[in-house]
Amino acid sequence: MAEKAFNPFEMAQKQFDAVAEKLGLDQGTRDLLRNPSRELHFTIPVRMDTGSVKIFRGFRIQHNDSRGPGKGGIRFHPHETIDTVKALATWMTWKCAVVDIPLGGAKGGVICDPRELSDREQEQICRGWIRQVSKMVGPFNDVPAPDVMTHGQHMLWMMDEYEVISGGKRPGFITGKPVGMGGSLGRTEATGYGVIYTVREAMKQLGIDIKGATAAIQGAGNVAQYSLDLFTQYGGKVIAIACWDNNDKVPYTYRCKDGIEFEKLMGSIDKYGTIDPAKAKSYGWEKLPGDAWIEQDVTVLIPAAQENMINSENVNKIRPSVKLIAEGANGPTTPEADIVIQQKGIFLIPDFLCNAGGVTCSYFEQVQCNMNYFWEKEEVLTKLDQKMTAGFKAVSSLARDKKIYMRDAAYMISIKRVAEASHLRGWV
Ligand code: GLU
Repeated sequence: MAEKAFNPFEMAQKQFDAVAEKLGLDQGTRDLLRNPSRELHFTIPVRMDTGSVKIFRGFRIQHNDSRGPGKGGIRFHPHETIDTVKALATWMTWKCAVVDIPLGGAKGGVICDPRELSDREQEQICRGWIRQVSKMVGPFNDVPAPDVMTHGQHMLWMMDEYEVISGGKRPGFITGKPVGMGGSLGRTEATGYGVIYTVREAMKQLGIDIKGATAAIQGAGNVAQYSLDLFTQYGGKVIAIACWDNNDKVPYTYRCKDGIEFEKLMGSIDKYGTIDPAKAKSYGWEKLPGDAWIEQDVTVLIPAAQENMINSENVNKIRPSVKLIAEGANGPTTPEADIVIQQKGIFLIPDFLCNAGGVTCSYFEQVQCNMNYFWEKEEVLTKLDQKMTAGFKAVSSLARDKKIYMRDAAYMISIKRVAEASHLRGWV
């Protein structure tokens, strides 16, 4: 079974090796960049509400910081593995490089299910995570952020603990904080809007009008929500959205041929991306099996949740109507499925370019915190659009000039930039 064999870090290394070969990188540079530079594995003891103590496992991985401080989110997930975190840290390095922001790649995680933990227990995990990593992170070393199932409140508990330990106010230490507490306006929308800025540019290139175009999205969390929002504002329709159901513990697709409205989605979803089935029913949304999102007659597919969502078992269900895949998630397509997508001639916006809006806005947040001067939302979103559009154009013109796949072009740009920075520092 494709899913069982799937190892995201092996996939990240495989992707890197292929491009390193094309770029003719020397062995030292390959050995440096195909592995993280630092890994921290640790335990977090938490006194649970029941009075007993439970030990959680946590990680922080720094892949490469030749271009600037490490940057990357912290994921809370029951199925978190060290290899997932290593892959995600590696992709963060390429992500920051492709949009040309002066940051490196890092990622963190805790094996836990926040849906089954009280707020107090989650706060203890956040503070315990910081106590374990405090020596290796910091505003000029490594700057964490939210990721799957973590949000602004988690970041604030972490910032508070870090400031207690380091003795001073350092809001630039972490991003994705709530607005008014060092957060940036536009950060909530940033990843999803960034996805759609690249979709807009790709559609211009493909000669497809975004007005009246249709999309199906896998995932219903932050990235999916704001992708739907902007795609709809541009005149498109999202006709299907797939989400995890907390009660049944299986994924579903909700379909609405007239287009799912942003307000209805926001009114029916909990903070972990689960849609209330009763509300969905009242809106007249059809409930279909989890994989149904991929077999819709739409122009755009947006996998916007997790890894391994387009794989050898479902890639052939993609309809001929699909002209564009925008990878809002990190690593949603397996290498086997990637080959099929290329053969089908579908235009692909690779993950670390497509979803770079989040980290780009995190970078803006860091800049604003360090200056202690905060910008208006419009200024943030205008700057975000500029960065995403420039990143997209650099990748798509390389892909066109060299007649190569978009993913390969994005990798070539990023790996070249990071290899150069590592050479200039004299590391390799
Ligand atoms: N977790 C997001 C990502 O995977 C954002 C990271 C950040 O803002 O540092 O890109």
